[in-house]
Amino acid sequence: MIDLRSDTVTLPTAEMREAMANASVGDDVFGDDPTVNELEARVAEILGKEAAVYMPSGTMTNQTAVRTHTEPGDEILLDQNAHVYFYEAGATAALSGAICRLIPGNRGVFGSEEMETVFREIDSHYPRTKLVCVENTTNRGGGKVWPLEKLEEVEKTARENGLKMHLDGARIWNAAAALKVPESEIAKYFDSVSVCFSKGLGAPVGSALVGDSDFIMEARRFRKQFGGGMRQAGIIAAGALYALENNRERLTVDHDNAKTFAKGLAEIEGIEIDPDDVETNIVNFCVQGYTAQELIQRLDQQGTFVLPRETTMIRAVTNLMVSETQIQQALEHIRNAMSS
Ligand SMILES: *Cc1c(COP(=O)(O)O)cnc(C)c1O
Repeated sequence: MIDLRSDTVTLPTAEMREAMANASVGDDVFGDDPTVNELEARVAEILGKEAAVYMPSGTMTNQTAVRTHTEPGDEILLDQNAHVYFYEAGATAALSGAICRLIPGNRGVFGSEEMETVFREIDSHYPRTKLVCVENTTNRGGGKVWPLEKLEEVEKTARENGLKMHLDGARIWNAAAALKVPESEIAKYFDSVSVCFSKGLGAPVGSALVGDSDFIMEARRFRKQFGGGMRQAGIIAAGALYALENNRERLTVDHDNAKTFAKGLAEIEGIEIDPDDVETNIVNFCVQGYTAQELIQRLDQQGTFVLPRETTMIRAVTNLMVSETQIQQALEHIRNAMSS
């Protein structure tokens, strides 16, 4: 089975499981879990921030950040394809009472010009705009990496308008690997950053929200309110810590595999893709002559698994379970399916 459905399908290795089995634990709601404390300190250090809080999911870290930055009735600005808006079950409305104003970006990336189109005057008719959310790499944007100059530009515009900055950095590790910069070089533009341990890094559970100490103290209250306070969470935090220390450097392998896959796809009749668009581990491509579902059925039979994105668009994500040999096999499966 060649599983390219997502980088969330990664399974813990024997070494990771051993680290988890041997983890020291305590009641984390009391602050007593040494492994959770170590993970939080380490991820804060890597991102160049004061503090971090561990949570079960990236949806929870993002939504806790939104709740901490806003009050009901406030507005947040984010790209029209942002995960926070698109894939989090309406949580900004349900949990924070915040409204989303969508910025028309390009594959999830925007600049001050696009931000200007949604700015409001200060007027009692309008909601108060509080926050800009950026996603890096962009999920629906096909793993696109924000150029650092764009982040600088957006931060400058946000600060001039009194707005806070949140990064949905579920794949910040991929962005840093692609740019060959430390994660802190990306995080420095933001007041808060959400990162994920269970995608490309391969841990079984968890995300962290990172920021200054006061912000994280307040975020802990909302984590509790949202039901995310965990007890002996060191068992899972140990997997996240192991992933953080061991699996960041190898992400370039996933990126190379994605590039190889994209180049192979570009040569198949009836597949539309520009390999230059593939910057990290996500490969979006279009099919002609079939719907995405029809092609996916043919691939399932051969043991390659991908997901539909739109009627004729398919998404494939390379990850640590997929070798270069399997990438070549997956291409063979697609060639078979397209010619049958
Ligand atoms: C996966 C993902 C998340 C968080 O997802 P969970 O499944 O809730 O952990 C957040 N943002 C982006 C961009 C993602 O890809």
